Amino acid sequence: MYDVIIIGAGPSGASAAIFTAKAGKKTLLIDNDKGVTKRAWVENHYGVSEISGPDLVETGLKQAEKFGTEVVEDTATAVSKEGDVITVTTENGSYQGGHLIIASGMMTTLAEAAGIATKDGTEPRIKTVFDVNAQGKTNIEGIWAAGTCAGVSMHTIITAGDGAKVAINVISELNGDRYVDHDVLKA
Ligand SMILES: Cc1cc2nc3c(=O)[nH]c(=O)nc-3n(C[C@H](O)[C@H](O)[C@H](O)COP(=O)(O)OP(=O)(O)OC[C@H]3O[C@@H](n4cnc5c(N)ncnc54)[C@H](O)[C@@H]3O)c2cc1C
Repeated sequence: MYDVIIIGAGPSGASAAIFTAKAGKKTLLIDNDKGVTKRAWVENHYGVSEISGPDLVETGLKQAEKFGTEVVEDTATAVSKEGDVITVTTENGSYQGGHLIIASGMMTTLAEAAGIATKDGTEPRIKTVFDVNAQGKTNIEGIWAAGTCAGVSMHTIITAGDGAKVAINVISELNGDRYVDHDVLKA
């Protein structure tokens, strides 16, 4: 049983995993390596003068693993909820958790079948997104969405920031107290 399961290890999902794992939450990241970021060359990400998409994704994944995130290379095929337990079924297994963050980029078909509300996208080439509130919550308690699939502007700094935002909201809910993660400059 995981505290948090995340579908998608692009900027939004891996960023969410960095926060949840670093906060001590048992985190599983499921990814099938079909993200669009691996086609990008990025020169507009604050604090990074230039980086290739593959390097950005690889570094983000390593950061998430450094804090204890378990990573599974697999395709999530179904999502369901019974009581407080969310089950994610993949091509090769199934996983259970208390919270699910969907960070599946341009793909929303998986969760539509699970009864998660969607709406029309507003960004170029994005037809459908999950209908989330300002915190990132979908219509199903415990299921959240972040990044491109949650309708934010499709830029790495924004999708990564949205993943972090949603993760902080999940952690705060789990802790029952508003969460802040600030490391201090080492002497
Ligand atoms: C050619 C190109 C150039 C770009 N250039 C820039 C740029 O210069 N600057 C900039 O800011 N942005 C750029 N972008 C946009 C940027 O890459 C995206 O906005 C952002 O990275 C999307 O992040 P994401 O996490 O929402 O989605 P993604 O990066 O697409 O990640 C989604 C992840 O979910 C996984 N996934 C989806 N469904 C499932 C499933 N069912 N089971 C398991 N895994 C699943 C995918 O494999 C993927 O790894 C560019 C994009 C492209 C295509």
